[in-house]
Amino acid sequence: MLQFISIGSGSSGNSYFLRADDYAIFIDMGVGVRIFNHLCQTYGIPQHLGRAILLTHDHADHTRAVGSYASRRHLPVYALEAVHQALLQNYIQGTKIPAALRHDILPESPFTLGPFTVTPFEVPHDSRACCGFHITAEGTTFTLMTDAGHVTPRMADYIRRSRYLVIEANHDAQMLRTGRYPIRLQRRIASPTGHLENAAAATALADHLSPEARHVWLCHLSQDNNRPEVALQTVCNALTAAGFPVGNGLDVDVLPRRTPSSTFTLEVAD
Ligand SMILES: [Zn+2]
Ligand SMILES: [Zn+2]
Repeated sequence: MLQFISIGSGSSGNSYFLRADDYAIFIDMGVGVRIFNHLCQTYGIPQHLGRAILLTHDHADHTRAVGSYASRRHLPVYALEAVHQALLQNYIQGTKIPAALRHDILPESPFTLGPFTVTPFEVPHDSRACCGFHITAEGTTFTLMTDAGHVTPRMADYIRRSRYLVIEANHDAQMLRTGRYPIRLQRRIASPTGHLENAAAATALADHLSPEARHVWLCHLSQDNNRPEVALQTVCNALTAAGFPVGNGLDVDVLPRRTPSSTFTLEVAD
């Protein structure tokens, strides 16, 4: 049995939970520990099954709680070497990840964690380094790519290989331009190493998604420069125009920012 839950998604804190029977991994640990525990308790998320933490990158909304959570639960933390270095040097990061729990990973170099085979791949973003994860388990494929200024050819390859895909739909370009963010911040977000806009996510999906894909989740939506219905419509329109059976074999959902999603059960191979 394979399950996916988003615990939080967006600039207030990102964390995702992927479970194969009694073995689970977290991707990112950016929700403060107290809120994280409260959410897991309230929503019945079996966090005690967590065996490891994967980090996409070093920004605080993805790593805020990683040091204390990993220490307390003795969980190994897998991240690119530059991401581990950035966290060690960052004074805002209170509790450091103990050396014994730090594991360096390399782009395009697969490793196994229990039933999961994980392949990190590079994602263009203005952190010290950033990666997405392509994960195979029980004969199916799950990919998560977030905080991506644009979609690279390599990312497109991983979109093609995914039955289940989490992809950033951060902002609507028009809402960002006419919104209240100062010009400098607007430029940062819209740059090729910033965040992925709805239309870019939509085009990448329409161009590269496999006919085998079953579920796409849109993540890391901006509170100010996006709305769930806008992101969903932009992506669904593009997919429908490209001939995908949206709602009729292919599900598309937006992940909530501050609360956990439903528990999604992934179809596995027989
Ligand atoms: Zn982020
Ligand atoms: Zn980031």
